[in-house]
Amino acid sequence: MKDFGSSPSPLDFGKGFTLDFDLKTGLSSSVDTGKRYLSQMRGMYQDEKALGALLAQGDKLVYEFHGLPAPDKPGDLAFGCSILYPGKVGNEYHMTKGHFHTILETAEVYYCLSGQGYMMMENPEGDWRALALEAGKAIYVPARYAHRSINVSPDKPLVTFFVFRADAGHDYGSIESKGYRKLLVEKDGQPTVIDNPRWA
Ligand code: MN
Repeated sequence: MKDFGSSPSPLDFGKGFTLDFDLKTGLSSSVDTGKRYLSQMRGMYQDEKALGALLAQGDKLVYEFHGLPAPDKPGDLAFGCSILYPGKVGNEYHMTKGHFHTILETAEVYYCLSGQGYMMMENPEGDWRALALEAGKAIYVPARYAHRSINVSPDKPLVTFFVFRADAGHDYGSIESKGYRKLLVEKDGQPTVIDNPRWA
């Protein structure tokens, strides 16, 4: 449906804005889009051999995100949509890299639009949670918790809508160097949490 308003542009941050954002596809006319391919996930999966074998057959898209590039000011909110495609590397499900917020004390909300998966969260103090994601379920990622989504469906994308304080920033480096304490793997056909043998 059509939008109405006095502002000439749909994105006028000085006056507030509206945005046509399709929750089913994450697509809009004015979003930042990012894509992560399997080749960019080196070091994230425990089974490097399985990753190498998959890459030998060709690179593929693991996930993409489409977000509103809100100004990184404390009062603004950034939001968008993440699409995580199904698949496994060894016995580990497709997942996002995961991150802490640079401003550690900032939370985030995820709302699952479709698919089946988990949100893996952990804080620097060692508390962790893996919360199930399914269509219609909202997850609150508390301040201080790194977060990573994981798709456990054999054939359907996991699609989530997210919103967080726009100035929070992303710290990917900590996860890239330390990893997560816990991994979600498929064992006897079921999602199972194990200790990460490589956790630093
Ligand atoms: Mn975040």
